[in-house]
This record gives sequence, C-alpha cells and structure tokens, in this order.
Amino acid sequence: MSAIGLAPHNFLLSWIAIGLACGSFVTVLVARIPEGRGIQGRSQCISCNETISARDNIPVISYLILKGKCRNCKVPISIRYPLTELVAMGLVVVAVQSNEGWWKVLAWVVFSVLGLALAIIDLQTHRLPNALTAWLFVLIAVTVSGDILANHHSDKIKMTVISSFALTVFYFLLNILSRGGMGMGDVKLAASIGLILGYINGSSVIVGTFFGFFFGSTISVLMMATGRATRKTQIPFGPLMLLGAFVAPWLTPHLVAIFL
Ligand SMILES: [Zn+2]
Repeated sequence: MSAIGLAPHNFLLSWIAIGLACGSFVTVLVARIPEGRGIQGRSQCISCNETISARDNIPVISYLILKGKCRNCKVPISIRYPLTELVAMGLVVVAVQSNEGWWKVLAWVVFSVLGLALAIIDLQTHRLPNALTAWLFVLIAVTVSGDILANHHSDKIKMTVISSFALTVFYFLLNILSRGGMGMGDVKLAASIGLILGYINGSSVIVGTFFGFFFGSTISVLMMATGRATRKTQIPFGPLMLLGAFVAPWLTPHLVAIFL
C-alpha cells in the first residue's frame, strides 16, 4: 500500500465517527472537570441519576432515537449535548482535511477537541481548569515532537519553543497590566497556542493573537451596542484566543501575501 493511501484524510468516515466520539468526551469534560470529578465511569441522567446505558450514549443518534428525552424519567436532554458532538465532529474533520501527515493531524485534533472543551468551560464558568490546560500543553508538545522527529523538522524547534515562551510572557504581562482581568488560565493556554502556531511559523502566532483580540473587541462593541454588556462586563477570553488560533493557519498566508 502506498504512503498516500494511508494519509489521514483518506479515512474521512472514520474521522467523522472519531469526531462525534470526541464530542461526547467533550460533554463529559465540560460536565465533570469544573466540579473536580474524574472522567472515568458512566454518565448519569442529571435529572433521575439513572446510569446512561451504552445504547443510549451513541453521539447524536441516541438523542434522535430518544427524541431528546431520558429513557427512564422522560425529562428533556439538553440540545447542547448533540450540538457539542456535531461541532467537535466539524472541527476534527477540518483539522484532518487541512493538515498533512498523521502527527500534525493528531496535534490539531487534540487542539480542536480540548480547545472546544476549554472554550465551553470558560464560557460557562469563566475559568480554564489547570488539568485541561496542562493536558493540552503536554499532548501538543508530544504530537509536535512526533512530527519534528518523523519529518526531520529540527530546524523548526527554535521558532516553536520561542513562540510558546514569547506568547506566554505576552499574556503574563497582560495579566499584570490588567490586574487579573486577563486570567492566569489564559496565560497557561497561551503556552499551547504558541506551541502549535509557532510550529507553523512566527507569522501565524501574530495573526492568531491579533484575531483573538479582534474578535474580542468586535464582540464587546456588539454586546455594548445591544445593551448586553457594560464596560465592566468580563468577557471570557479563552474562546476568543482559541478561535483566533484556529483561523490563523488559513488567514496567515493571505495576510502575508497582502502585506509583504
Ligand atoms: Zn432521567
């Protein structure tokens, strides 16, 4: 079998299934990590505490079969569960289609899945749990190192390490200057974003960071204009950093072509 036949994007149906399963994992992380609960063991219905059986735990499909209600108590299941699963699937498919090679695909799948969990948790609790930011950093470091070794990219190590360090310092300074307005969770998340974008190139790090702030200011202005926020409203910045990082690989080549 040729190496091209074994490329990650030739397994699209498998990735769709993996993406949905990852989405299911994200719903578990979102429900349990902020409460300090472990991720092992089956989930229970939040209404009647009945353990959810395997056949009722198939992403999206179970929700449709059960018509969005618990099999036991018939209390509606939040639409957030199948939506999270679909969003995760979309992110995983995009990660697979837009990257070459298994290690890079794995790095972006990890970034998309844990990033989605972090974004939802930050929106709901205004926190980025240490357990998740730490795992994100370790898994991206491992997958990026795998790509460096597999494809002999030792020339990229310097830029990757410097980007991670520089972006962390940048957010740490913002944390000090904003007197905690920019949280320490954002600082820790920056280390991972610097790593994955720095491995592409330095321009991506700048573009990703710029768009995080661009999305942030756009949303702040829109929310203030529609009376949903005041100047003092705290908008979680983690999801915006992640969104900026996610669009950076596409936007960077266009922006570099325009400005340089
Ligand atoms: Zn129930």
